[in-house]
Amino acid sequence: MTATFLDRLFDAGLLIDTGVDGLYARSGTFEHIVDGIDAVVTAFGGADGAEVVRFPPGMNRMVFEKTGYMKNFPNLAGTVHCFCGDDAAHADIIAALDEGGDWAAHQKLSDIALTPAACYPLYPLAARRGPLPAQGRLFDILSYCFRREPSKESTRQQMFRMREFVRMGTPDEVMAFRQLWIERGAEMVKTFGLDGAVDLANDPFFGRAGRMLKNNQRQQNLKFEMLIPVESVEKPTACMSFNYHQDHFGTLWNLTTADGAVAHTACVGFGFERLALALLKVHGLDVAAWPAGVRAALWG
Ligand code: AMP
Ligand code: ZN
Repeated sequence: MTATFLDRLFDAGLLIDTGVDGLYARSGTFEHIVDGIDAVVTAFGGADGAEVVRFPPGMNRMVFEKTGYMKNFPNLAGTVHCFCGDDAAHADIIAALDEGGDWAAHQKLSDIALTPAACYPLYPLAARRGPLPAQGRLFDILSYCFRREPSKESTRQQMFRMREFVRMGTPDEVMAFRQLWIERGAEMVKTFGLDGAVDLANDPFFGRAGRMLKNNQRQQNLKFEMLIPVESVEKPTACMSFNYHQDHFGTLWNLTTADGAVAHTACVGFGFERLALALLKVHGLDVAAWPAGVRAALWG
């Protein structure tokens, strides 16, 4: 049997197996690549004056619920449960742990959910400041994200980093922002010495009810992805995404423009792990042997 790409990454020590599919530790070299990608993203967008916000990997569960994640993607969601019992409940837990029983019986849903997409926690924070200024707002955000999609494909992880730029303003402003980043994304892929193609996409809304949402998203051109071959040429991997939310978050969080209209929003997301894996797949696992131009772009 030939080794999979994931096996080769483990063998090279770039990713380190934890015993759970999609949950990996990263080596210093892998993080060095991620740092380079982060710097390239900053080089492309840094002059736009975005406000930097960095999130922890957990978000306010009320925000998570209101955003609709639990309704639309229940299979991917991760919520934090905690023990809040008394001494008797503690004794039950100890007994269950010793006997291999169900120790989770006393766990209760906490006020934290694992963040599924970096921008979800941002909208209520922005809305709390009141109407947008005349030129709208632009944010530069980063979060570890969780999605319950265990897989042997290196590119489908359960915990991964997403850096995003998020634009809030009029429909024209946010659409122009998205178009600019689709073009920058294509330039960025060239900088990395990779081959990518932008294509229309949809989110994996759950179940029968989700089919309509998927169709709607495609028909209205709301989501584009930058696809780069990593695990296979036939099924290239979405390494960046370019999303137009229309007035969805504006309406949800009562976010308005300076003249009182419901704000529109768009975001562009860069998957750090997927971009690092694309570089490793195409240029090889020996980073020192990567093309000089790619090395210079990543690490100056
Ligand atoms: P999405 O919100 O699905 O458009 O995801 C934004 C970006 O996050 C994608 O373009 C990927 O680069 C990255 N991403 C999404 N899901 C995963 C995953 N399971 N593992 C690693 N990266 C992911
Ligand atoms: Zn987003």
